[in-house]
Amino acid sequence: MKFDIAIVGAGVLGSFAAYHALKSGKKVLLIDASTKSHGATVRNFGQIVPSGMNLNLWRNLGRRSLELYGELTSLMPDALKQQGSLYVASCAEETSILEEMHEINCETDYTSKLLTPTQCRKRIAPLAQGYCHGGLLYPQEMSSESTLMMKYFWKHLDDEANLHFKKATPVIAVEEVHSGIGVRCSTGEIHLSERALICCGHQLSHLFPHLLQTKKMQLSKLQMLRTQPFEKIKVPGNLLTALTIRRYEAFKSCPNYKNLPKPQIDPDYKKLGIHLLFRQSADGSLIIGDSHEYFSALDSGTLDYEIRQEINTLIMAEAKRILNLPHYNIARAWNGYYSQENNRGIFLKSAAEHIHLVTGIGGKGMTTGPALMERVVKNIFEENPLEECLIDEY
Ligand SMILES: Cc1cc2nc3c(=O)[nH]c(=O)nc-3n(C[C@H](O)[C@H](O)[C@H](O)COP(=O)(O)OP(=O)(O)OC[C@H]3O[C@@H](n4cnc5c(N)ncnc54)[C@H](O)[C@@H]3O)c2cc1C
Repeated sequence: MKFDIAIVGAGVLGSFAAYHALKSGKKVLLIDASTKSHGATVRNFGQIVPSGMNLNLWRNLGRRSLELYGELTSLMPDALKQQGSLYVASCAEETSILEEMHEINCETDYTSKLLTPTQCRKRIAPLAQGYCHGGLLYPQEMSSESTLMMKYFWKHLDDEANLHFKKATPVIAVEEVHSGIGVRCSTGEIHLSERALICCGHQLSHLFPHLLQTKKMQLSKLQMLRTQPFEKIKVPGNLLTALTIRRYEAFKSCPNYKNLPKPQIDPDYKKLGIHLLFRQSADGSLIIGDSHEYFSALDSGTLDYEIRQEINTLIMAEAKRILNLPHYNIARAWNGYYSQENNRGIFLKSAAEHIHLVTGIGGKGMTTGPALMERVVKNIFEENPLEECLIDEY
């Protein structure tokens, strides 16, 4: 059988590419090296936060992605929830930035609401009184229980008659052959397709390494923690805090962003890319993170796998300043990895006329991936150059 499109990699990018191609009636081959989603897509916070994205392209893609997730919520009500995102300021200057951001949101028709410290604590009771100086709530934003979401999503895709889903099947080559594109698997099978799309996450050394392992790309390693469950504590939606206001692109558009004073904390927080995010899972446990260590994509062998206790100690110290919890017993710790394109924030390239690569989306794949892949798939089938598919909005 010859497919209309073969998609290699079934993280959030590859899976949504399959979703959009199927919606337009195409015959799709989706292949992943693993038996279940195991990349960045399930190691993340699951915060779907257009509010943090830069105000042009990426916030628009985030807003469209909220609509696309909305199409799926009835299939997975316990994995996708619309409970909003709350940014909490820890000083007067950060509160002013939230006010400026709120004004920008009003001008750009994106709903947000300024909250007083009392209103913030009404929403999240354990917020420390000395920490919280005010908040900005985005009520329409969503959270995903990512492992569960991908389980449902893979099942949903698997049930589609026009999809052939090969799991536990690493792809070792994608090449032009006389009758189309050949997708060669480690099992020895070769599948034939009109075109191919590779969404390989941070695995840059397997397919087209000469295009992917370049100076423009870097790899990021993040450390994450999960507490033991809390029975009585409720932290609805996404909770984002002071260091995030200083880190996320959206806030750089606020007139007084550049006048923010340096935070009065250990410089290692900045060096290790630590900012504090929280999301509560259905079992009551809190995911707390994260940190960012960067590695060159030129040599993926430099990427390390260790969990560094000194990073977890810094994360925990800041978390304790923010939330007064009955305990900080950690049940799980893990690393996540993603690739990131440094200039445009996404790697989009056609390796040949009908072989396309999309990766390097960095820390915004859950927020913007569904809408990005809608555009990518449309461009591929309209035979427009992939590199140009977002060009007007950069
Ligand atoms: C700790 C952490 C926290 C994050 N938090 C958030 C967040 O809250 N909000 C947000 O928007 N984003 C977040 N992100 C970013 C987001 O998770 C990523 O941008 C996104 O998941 C990337 O998706 P992907 O499909 O490119 O990669 P992946 O999810 O890594 O998927 C790639 C897939 O390709 C497969 N593959 C690779 N090579 C081959 C091959 N040769 N053959 C077959 N299969 C192959 C792999 O098996 C894998 O399943 C976070 C990331 C991390 C690591």
